[in-house]
Amino acid sequence: MRSRAPLTLALCAASILAGCAARGPVQAESALGSFCERLPRPEYASLSRHAASDDWFEVYELRPGTFAIYEPWQWQEVISWLIVGERRALLFDTGNGIDDITRVTAALTDLPITVLNSHGHADHVGGNHAYANVLSTMDDFSIARSRGLPHEAVAEEVSPAALCRGLPGGMVAADHRLRPYALTERVSDGERIDLGGRTLEVLEIPGHTPDSIALLERDGGYLWTGDTFYVGPIWLYAEETDFAAYRASLARLAALAPGLTALFPAHNTPEADPALLEMALAGFDAMRAGDIEAEPGWPGTVTYPVGPFSFLVREGVFDAP
Ligand SMILES: [Zn+2]
Repeated sequence: MRSRAPLTLALCAASILAGCAARGPVQAESALGSFCERLPRPEYASLSRHAASDDWFEVYELRPGTFAIYEPWQWQEVISWLIVGERRALLFDTGNGIDDITRVTAALTDLPITVLNSHGHADHVGGNHAYANVLSTMDDFSIARSRGLPHEAVAEEVSPAALCRGLPGGMVAADHRLRPYALTERVSDGERIDLGGRTLEVLEIPGHTPDSIALLERDGGYLWTGDTFYVGPIWLYAEETDFAAYRASLARLAALAPGLTALFPAHNTPEADPALLEMALAGFDAMRAGDIEAEPGWPGTVTYPVGPFSFLVREGVFDAP
């Protein structure tokens, strides 16, 4: 789970390109300005907002039947994806659980909806409890997370510093928690999910978390990358992050890049160039080889810039023991 430090760091990381220095908690308040002021991100200017959008969720139809459900006003800027076939729809992540995402998905399709999560971090599974069918790899991390989290573990996500506008109507910050949910069916690497006219392939890509997965739609050349890749500071500092696994997963995704037409990540901006996967792999190796100069973030962490994104790690994590 996020702690105070990562939140402040993220606020800082958001302005890394503007020359962010290490900040303490007090400075977080002034850093908040840069978080909110960067909204709306310019990448959204060319996208038309779908009518299912409301005060909390913004919906964009990136391709026919492929909807990005974005929560712009909360610092995670998480993006859940509704992928609609002819017979059913898959919801890849359910967001923070701060507002009711079923209101949006019901407006987008009448078909049955199955949930699958990119990984078990709380900002991706918050709405799971509202759906009857939740697929999972049944990894230990996923199973543990399905038991929910108390308010104290997610309180920061609804704190004033994490928000650029008020909570949705009727939402009381003190009531926010990760509600438990049932994992109803197992999926595993290579499995194909037939939505009717569209087929998604499950790729297990551990690293960011042990339970991370990507979704591949070979027909369109689309890859949903979860938190393994997005344009922003890619968080690799958590206890559950495994560098060797992450590198292997990144290599696997990068090898797919020549056959892809678009990446659909889980934070910040909804579409990215597949060629960035190869840049990420090369950048990761350069970081490990000591060829990229670290930039300071929150005390105890550093970032390594690679083109339009960066890797965020604990300070000293690559030092010899
Ligand atoms: Zn995550």
